[in-house]
Amino acid sequence: MNVQAEPAAPSDQRETVLTGRSIAPGLGLGRAWVIGDLLKCSGAPQAISPDDVDHELLRLKQSVEETLADLDRSAARIEFEFNTALGGIFRAHGVLLRDLFTSGELDRELRTSLLTAEAAVRRVFRRWYKQFEAVENPALRERADDMLDMGRNVIRRLRGAAADGPQAMPEQSVLVVERLLPSDVVRLPKAKAMAVVVESLGQGSHAALLVREKGIPTITGIPGIVSQVTNGTELLVDGFQGKLTVAPLPAARVEFQERVDRWRATLARCLGACREPARSLDGQLVRVEANIGIRDDVELALDNGADGVGLLRIEHLYFARNSPPSVAELLGELKQLVAPLRQRPVTIRLLDIGGDKPLPYLRLAATPNPVLGRRGVRVLREYAQLARTQLAAILRLAQEHPVRVLIPMVTLEEDVAAMRALFDAVSTERKVAQPPEFGAMVETPAAALAIPALLKHVDFLCVGTNDLAQYTLAAARDDATVNDYYRDSHESILRLLRIILADSKQRSVTLCGELAGRESIVPCLLQMGFRNLSVAPTAIPTTKAAVRRINIGEQVAAAVDA
Ligand code: PEP
Ligand code: MG
Repeated sequence: MNVQAEPAAPSDQRETVLTGRSIAPGLGLGRAWVIGDLLKCSGAPQAISPDDVDHELLRLKQSVEETLADLDRSAARIEFEFNTALGGIFRAHGVLLRDLFTSGELDRELRTSLLTAEAAVRRVFRRWYKQFEAVENPALRERADDMLDMGRNVIRRLRGAAADGPQAMPEQSVLVVERLLPSDVVRLPKAKAMAVVVESLGQGSHAALLVREKGIPTITGIPGIVSQVTNGTELLVDGFQGKLTVAPLPAARVEFQERVDRWRATLARCLGACREPARSLDGQLVRVEANIGIRDDVELALDNGADGVGLLRIEHLYFARNSPPSVAELLGELKQLVAPLRQRPVTIRLLDIGGDKPLPYLRLAATPNPVLGRRGVRVLREYAQLARTQLAAILRLAQEHPVRVLIPMVTLEEDVAAMRALFDAVSTERKVAQPPEFGAMVETPAAALAIPALLKHVDFLCVGTNDLAQYTLAAARDDATVNDYYRDSHESILRLLRIILADSKQRSVTLCGELAGRESIVPCLLQMGFRNLSVAPTAIPTTKAAVRRINIGEQVAAAVDA
């Protein structure tokens, strides 16, 4: 997400009701905080007087130097965690930026146009972009996007971190964006974001499930909204029905506020019993844990009565940085994250990047079909140091907190065998007498249908229906155009779940896809035999309430005719 936040201006728009699709349920009202491309600022550029030129040039020089230092730091960490070639991309960016800066064009633009440094950078980088785009050499043409990225980085520094991005959002805002990446959601302050409106977003995309996890009402499917509303316009977002009201009249606002009050009262009633363990009517205990990524999620999980953390997506710690963390940094961040959980168990999944979860600072070679390409465990196997850093930090954490280690996106038995060997080797090197339990995600049809082979290497399994649905129904989770095909409760998925349970014998199996928190499906999941569910923190109270309403009786998983 690139950021362009013009100062809030009152809107003179008429009330308009637009219909899109729901991504995260809930109701939110606030003022639009529109984020577009930093390099495509539509507002009038700000003029300066000739006396200000030296000051602006100094700001520009400092921002370029900071950007260069950051590129150097990123290159060093990526060389260590990945390889020299990938780190080299950042070094090459540094050389390019230095060359562009020393060419004097930025200085000239600023002096002749008498515009602020931001405006000069915008003009010059757009010009350079066009030149790169026009060249015949494909390698040089590819650098056009890198060029834009560097321009955005320089502008970000000129504006200062505090003015940049969602952090700068005023209280009671509704974020309006064209695209939303998981790394954007990680940085989104829940206390300020009343709702999110995204032009286009896949129902099962990681960004979508993160807004659901954070409990931020979100809608999508309203093309062009970024250019239709201005900053400060009042918006009502109905995340249940996928409706957006722009510039509501007083009557609509009052009616909406009444709905918000009723909805909050219902939530509060559900929250009442959520701290107690969930038992079905016939007394069977069901663990309801939380899926988390960042500190806000932990607090929400505890408030909502999580019995533990069934899935800690470590990638969020990577998204929130400009380069991969060292063992000490990662350990420090993990410790902070788990501390409020006291001794509640935490299952930590190793980095699952690729597909719709790119690491913003890592330029893996383009692949024709990212969700079918290098993702999850495939990346970990290729870059062993990346996995070693995480394992070392987790093993150290395991000395003070009950943790389990989980491998993402498994398809082959070799994936699990190779990661198990690495896990055992790091445990031995670090003289860990009692390593934590080691498990694998079952989120591809190949893994679901080969449970006996996987069980040779793992202590437990976690089933991820988000990816299982994507790969079984051949519908990319981040592709809004195939939302109708992306059905995680389709009969094929339920059948795979029965097979997984029947084949995993007595081994612990947690269901941690979004399906686990779908109230209407919970009875079916319990009757199949699931007793460990891990859900979005906001879904814990309703999931526990669903458990308490049913009489599970005999489980039927064993009856699968696989
Ligand atoms: C899943 O695929 O169901 C899962 C839990 O993992 P993620 O959503 O992070 O891909
Ligand atoms: Mg997954």
